[in-house]
Amino acid sequence: MTLLIISEKEIAARRIASILSRGTDKRTHIARVPVHEFLDDQGHEVAVVGLQGHVFNLDYPSHLNNWFKINPRDLIDVPPVKVEEAPHIVTALRQLAREADEVVIATDYDREGELIGVEALQVVLEENPKAKVVRTRFSALTPEEVHAAFASPVEVDHALAAAGETRQVIDLVWGAVLTRFISITSSRVGSDFLSVGRVQSPTLALVVDLEEEIEAFKPVPYWELWADCAKDTSEFRAHHKTKRFDRREEADAALERAKGAREGTVAAVKVTTRREKPPAPFNTTSFLAAASSLKMSASRAMDIAEDLYTNGYISYPRTDNTVYGPSLDLRATLERLRETPFRDDIEVLLGQRELHASRGKTSATDHPPIHPTMPASPGALRPDAWRVYELVVRRFMATVAWDAVMDNTTAQLDIGGEVFVAEGRHYQDKGWKRFYPYFRDLEAPLPALAEGDRVEVRDVHRLDLETKPPARFSQGKLIQEMDRLGLGTKSTRHTIIQKLYDRGYIEGTSIKPTGTGRAVSSALGKHARTVTEPAMTATLEHDMSLIADGKSSLDKVVGESREMLTSIMEVLERERKAIGDEIKIALREQNTIGKCPQCGGSIVSMRSRRNKRFAGCINFPKCRQSYPLPQHGRIEGLGQQCEACASPRIALFSRRGKMEFCVNLECPTNAERLARSAERRARMEAEAAAKGAAPAAADAPAPVAKPKAKPRSRAKAGARTGAKAGPKRKPRASRKPPPPEAEEPPASG
Ligand SMILES: [Zn+2]
Ligand SMILES: [Zn+2]
Repeated sequence: MTLLIISEKEIAARRIASILSRGTDKRTHIARVPVHEFLDDQGHEVAVVGLQGHVFNLDYPSHLNNWFKINPRDLIDVPPVKVEEAPHIVTALRQLAREADEVVIATDYDREGELIGVEALQVVLEENPKAKVVRTRFSALTPEEVHAAFASPVEVDHALAAAGETRQVIDLVWGAVLTRFISITSSRVGSDFLSVGRVQSPTLALVVDLEEEIEAFKPVPYWELWADCAKDTSEFRAHHKTKRFDRREEADAALERAKGAREGTVAAVKVTTRREKPPAPFNTTSFLAAASSLKMSASRAMDIAEDLYTNGYISYPRTDNTVYGPSLDLRATLERLRETPFRDDIEVLLGQRELHASRGKTSATDHPPIHPTMPASPGALRPDAWRVYELVVRRFMATVAWDAVMDNTTAQLDIGGEVFVAEGRHYQDKGWKRFYPYFRDLEAPLPALAEGDRVEVRDVHRLDLETKPPARFSQGKLIQEMDRLGLGTKSTRHTIIQKLYDRGYIEGTSIKPTGTGRAVSSALGKHARTVTEPAMTATLEHDMSLIADGKSSLDKVVGESREMLTSIMEVLERERKAIGDEIKIALREQNTIGKCPQCGGSIVSMRSRRNKRFAGCINFPKCRQSYPLPQHGRIEGLGQQCEACASPRIALFSRRGKMEFCVNLECPTNAERLARSAERRARMEAEAAAKGAAPAAADAPAPVAKPKAKPRSRAKAGARTGAKAGPKRKPRASRKPPPPEAEEPPASG
C-alpha cells in the first residue's frame, strides 16, 4: 500500500513529512520536483509532494488573444480554458499517482486551498481513477495538529472548491473584458495597458473619492487658548473651557481677561476611573491593520505570516475568526512560549488564577484566530519576520491579559475669571497594555490638586489653527474599509492593493491616487458607476459564499455575473468615445511637461515600443521634436521655457532629491552638469575596477528578503490576460525610435 500526500507548497510538504516520519524522511526528485519519502508505522510507503499553488490557471484560448481583432464584449460568453501553471509539477503528480493506492489532499484549508487540492486531484484521478481520496484539515503545522489531522481525515469539499473556481472565472471575464475595453478605447495598449477589475476598481475608487474629498476640503480657522501652569515645581497645561473658539474676537477677549492673572484657583477636581478591555484576537484584517503600524506593507506582512505558518510558528493567517475555539488550550499555548524572550511576561500571565480570553465579533469554524503555535528566537528568524512573530505573540498575550485601569483627573481652574481645564491620565494598572506596547502611551501626569489650591500661571497664549481634511488611507485602513464594504476576501485584499501600486494607480504609504488612477477611476465612475461601486462586487462575494455553503452553484453565479457584465458593456460601448477622450485628456495633462519650441504644441512624456521613457511633441508626425528622458524618478514640467534653447524645463524627483534642468541634453545650460556626471561615472568605474568585483560583493549586506513566493491568488487573472494578450505592434503608425537613453543627472550643488 502506497500513500501520496499532496500539500500546497514544497516547504509545507517538507514539514509534514518530517513531522509524520519523525525526521526519518528521505528526499528524492521526480521531474526536478522534490518528493519526501518514508515508511509509516504500519510499514506503508508514503510520498509527500508540494505544489506551487494552483496547478491550473484559467485563460482564453489563444486565438482570442488579439486585442484588435476581438471585440472585448465577445469574450463574455466564451468558456475559459485551463492552462497548466507548472507543467513539471503535473508530470511529477502523474508519476506519483500511478503508484498511489490512497491520496491525501493536505493543501491549506480554505476556499483557494480546496480548489488547489481539487485541481491536483483531477490530475491524479486521470492517471489512477481507482485511488482512494481523503482530505486533512489543520490550522497549524505543529506535530499535534498534523498528527491529529492525519488520524481523522475528512472528505474533499467540492462546494468550497467550486466557490474558488467561480471567483477565478468571474475575475478572468471581468478583468479581461473591461481591461481590454478601457485600454483600447484610450489607446493605452502594450505594457502601459489600463487594468480594470471587479475588486480593484471599487477599491481604487475609494482612494480617488477620498482624494477628491481632501481636495475639495475648505479649512475653517479656529482658535484655542492654553495656560502654562505650575504647582510647586511641577508644570502642567490647561485648556480653556471653550475648547474651540470659532471667532477670533471671542478668543482674544478671553485671552485679555486671563492674561493679567499671575495665579489661578482650583475650582473643582474630579477623578473618574475607566477600564479598557483587551483587544480581540487577530483575524487577517486586524492583523494586517496592526502590521501596517509596524511600517510594513500588507502584502509583505502577509507573505511573512504565511512563511511563519509554513514553518510551524503561528497558526493559519487567513481567517475571519476573532473568537478562540474551545479546543484551543490557552494555558498550553502560553507554556509553549516560555522558551522565547517573552518568558517573564508569560510567567506573569500564567500566574493568573484563571485564564480568560477576549472575544471579537466574528465566530467562524474554519480556522482559529491567528495565534503563536511554537516558540521562536530572534536569531532563528529574519528581522522583519521576528517583528511579525513578536506582534502575533504580543497580541495573543494581550488577549489573555486583564483590563487596563486608568484614572482620569479633570481640574477646573479659575484664571482671571476664565475657566480652564487641566486633564491628567494615570494608569492604576496597565493591564493588557504592558504586554502589547504598540499604542502611544497615554500617561499624562498632573500634580496633586485640591479644591481651593492656588497654582502659578506662567503664560496664557492663543493657538491659531484650522480644521484638517480627512486623513488618507494607510494600507491597513484600506483593508479594513474593503472588509467593511465586502470588497475581496481575507486572502485577496492585500494582493488587490499591491496590484494598484504595481499598475501605477496609487502611490505612497499614505495612499494617494496617481493621475492615471484618477483618470481611469473617474471615467469609469462617470459612465459605469456599477464597476466602481462596492455593491455589485459585494453581491458576487456573497453569492460565492452561498456556493461554498452548497446553496448556489458555479453555473448560476457565473451566469448572473455574465449578465451584469453584458449590461455594463452595453453602456460602456454606447459611450465609448467620451470615455476614451476623457481618459486620453486626463493622461495627457498628467504627462505634459511643457510647450514644444518648434510648433507650440504640448511636449508629453511617453514610452517607446521598447518601453523607454522619452518626451515627444503631441503633433507627431507633423512635428518630430523629441527628447530623451531619465529612465527613473518622477518627472514634472516646471511650466518654464529654457532661456537658452526654449525647450521646457523639468523637475526630476529621484533618490537623490529634486533637480531642475532643461529637458534638452544638448542645451548649453546642461553642459556643466553633464560633464560632472561623466566625470563622476568615470571615477566610479575606475574605483570599481581597482577594487575588483569580489570584495564588493562580499561587503554587500546579506539579502533580507527571500525570493517572493508566487502569489496563489487568482486576483491577477485579469491583468495577466491583459498583459499576455497585448498586441505585438501598435495600431497607429509607429513613432520614430526614441533617442538614446538619457542618463540620470547627478544632484546639483
Ligand atoms: Zn512640436
Ligand atoms: Zn535649454
